[in-house]
Amino acid sequence: MAPVPKECDYLVIGGGSGGLASARRASSKHGAKVIAVEHQRLGGTCVNVGCVPKKVTWNAASIAETIKEAKAYGFSVKETAPFDWPGFVKKRAAYVERLNGIYAKNLDKDKVELLRGRARFLNKHEVQVTMNDGSEVNVKAKKVLIAVGGYPTLPPIPGAKEHAITSDGFFELTQQPKKIAVVGAGYIGVEMAGMLHALGSEVHFFIRHDTFLRTFDPLIQEKVTEEYIRQGMHLHKRSSITKIEDAGNGQKKITVDLNGKEETMEVDTVLFAIGRKPEVDSLGIDKIGLEVDDKSHIKVDKYQNTNVENIYALGDACNAGFELTPVAIAAGRKLAGRLFGGLNDAHLVYENIPSVVFAHPEVGSIGLTEPQAREKYGDTIKIYQTSFTAMYYSMMEQEDKGPTAYKIICEGPNERIVGLHILGLGSGEILQGFGVAIKMGATKQDFDNCVAIHPVSAEELVTMT
Ligand code: FAD
Ligand code: NDP
Repeated sequence: MAPVPKECDYLVIGGGSGGLASARRASSKHGAKVIAVEHQRLGGTCVNVGCVPKKVTWNAASIAETIKEAKAYGFSVKETAPFDWPGFVKKRAAYVERLNGIYAKNLDKDKVELLRGRARFLNKHEVQVTMNDGSEVNVKAKKVLIAVGGYPTLPPIPGAKEHAITSDGFFELTQQPKKIAVVGAGYIGVEMAGMLHALGSEVHFFIRHDTFLRTFDPLIQEKVTEEYIRQGMHLHKRSSITKIEDAGNGQKKITVDLNGKEETMEVDTVLFAIGRKPEVDSLGIDKIGLEVDDKSHIKVDKYQNTNVENIYALGDACNAGFELTPVAIAAGRKLAGRLFGGLNDAHLVYENIPSVVFAHPEVGSIGLTEPQAREKYGDTIKIYQTSFTAMYYSMMEQEDKGPTAYKIICEGPNERIVGLHILGLGSGEILQGFGVAIKMGATKQDFDNCVAIHPVSAEELVTMT
């Protein structure tokens, strides 16, 4: 059967965070005729296998931690409570499914036509969509947005493909791992290792260097690493898994290079969280001459323009350097405003973007790290730093107390704040407000002029000397 022809002003490939935000804004606010294409569940990585199910799991892990700590506050509870992982996973999946439905309704409400299928370029002006039912639609669009996100990668070692999972597989685990090997010192490794440990799995965490989160400020790297060790996680520094074999009975035998020494270990699950790659392979980018970098990220300028006229890219698929949901959403809305709303200079400013790692405890970060600030501003920077024990831990034994650490990085005679790095309970919620202040150009004096709230950990941020 010949493909069904369609035409529109704006074709959005990818129904994830950035694509949906841009499609809806272009149609509902600026009146463009928009078609969105998605071959999987609506909502993309964040909703289905990212932020949302992750945060719900993190909440469960936090409750497990609170149960453990409740005794210190006089509650007669056992330090561990049985956790119904299969029941929890089912409930979490039902929540995500509800969100998928809400996303579909929102597209409908905003008059965005949804094509459930996979898109690939035929040429610069035409995209073919192979619908999930096998039929084909050819769309001619004035402008095309590529918002295809990415997928988690596995290392090229024997047995990885057959016996290991990535973050996608983590959300499919119907039983809680009893003993798990986690590899990868970034956001996902730190978050997933932390949640599993808090929920009672035996976690062996393999990292290539000495600390986690090596793109973060040194204070954060050191404190999170120390804290995971204090909590009893099995951290294997300077290590890598070189082979995975089936050991029978659901067990996997891993061969590990531990600082040059070869050892083996049996675990029931092996999880790699070693970064993600853009989903561009089957998009037909060769047909349109689209430029990508050496990691397959689509090259864009600050306006999300690619090298091909009328074709744009954003979110995890582009080379802007931030793989975060709110970044994809903000870039998508700005782009819709620029292309269809007459906002000629609208673009996302990729500077002072806050982010939080849902570690145990949480980490929040915005702006430059100390080494970055030193490189950019030399001796004109001034550092304010504090480490203390949050009042929450006052009722606990010394060995059960978690850390809190804050660092403010200032630049120039006015002490403009160019970096803020915080670790401790509630950091995720704390950072959002401080992020607004820093984005507005706050100085250390502005922080100090704000009267403290007592007694909260964040009061230290406005009283540091
Ligand atoms: P996506 O949301 O990935 O959407 C891309 C969509 O395009 C997908 O649905 C895909 O199916 C579709 N697609 C791909 N190719 C085609 C095609 N050819 N045709 C049709 N459709 C196609 N970010 C945060 O800000 N906070 C967090 O707490 C957080 N936690 C995370 C936890 C995990 C485990 C992971 C993996 C990520 C997390 N992220 C988090 C990152 C966040 O999920 C991504 O940055 C965000 O989803 C990127 O949005 P996007 O629109 O670029 O791509
Ligand atoms: P990241 O890029 O954050 O971290 C992956 C880390 O794995 C690297 O930093 C590297 O650390 C290590 N690594 C890379 N290759 C290998 C290898 N072959 N063997 C062992 N270790 C390796 O990727 P993630 O997969 O953790 O997450 C992807 C992105 O998703 C993040 O960058 C983030 O933007 C987003 N995300 C955001 C979250 C949030 O906002 N809370 C939560 C989860 C994800 P090293 O060099 O130190 O070994």
